[in-house]
Amino acid sequence: KPFLLKEIIENIIKEYKIKQNRYVKFIPDVKIEDFDIKVIGDYTKLSQIIQNILNNAFKFTEEGFVKLSIKLDRFNTLKNFQRIIFIIEDTGIGIDENEQSKVFEPFYQGKRKSHNESGGTGLGLAISKEIINLMGGEIIYISKEDRGSIFKFSVLLKNNVNEEILKSPKNKENVEGIKVLLA
Ligand code: ATP
Ligand code: MG
Repeated sequence: KPFLLKEIIENIIKEYKIKQNRYVKFIPDVKIEDFDIKVIGDYTKLSQIIQNILNNAFKFTEEGFVKLSIKLDRFNTLKNFQRIIFIIEDTGIGIDENEQSKVFEPFYQGKRKSHNESGGTGLGLAISKEIINLMGGEIIYISKEDRGSIFKFSVLLKNNVNEEILKSPKNKENVEGIKVLLA
């Protein structure tokens, strides 16, 4: 299932530009031209993870902003794989220090209600963490009560290098070029 990173990012940005309102701005911080890269992975699952974390940010933020930054890991040392880093920052209610180790537990929900009371099940972060780990990534966050939260996660996706192109003698030059790039 190859897909363009650019495509998934553009769709997410479109979706959340609509969700912003006069109290909470959505700030995408992405150099879209960096993501003209075809990868192999689960487009739907990756979208769901990003949406889970962004939905939380909006749910627990009454005023300020939700910022989404996406970067390619320049220090990636794994050949044929691309690590992508997502950072979601909000200016919301934050997470109580006593609760901080629990937010990734299934069904855990903080004591403090979100302003819009949209309940949920407490599974969003638990499921996201599971999938992120399966995708060779990890998720961490820092948070300060009444100040906001920053969630950061990464995933590892395989670069889509077309095997047929590699085999074709016509493309020998290209193949050598690709090999150099991948080396
Ligand atoms: P669901 O995602 O299943 O709809 P949920 O959002 O309550 O429900 P999680 O996404 O797993 O569940 O989050 C667990 C808890 O972590 C939340 O109930 C909330 O207390 C806390 N939390 C998560 N993200 C944030 C955030 N950005 N700001 C403040 N608290 C958060
Ligand atoms: Mg949630």
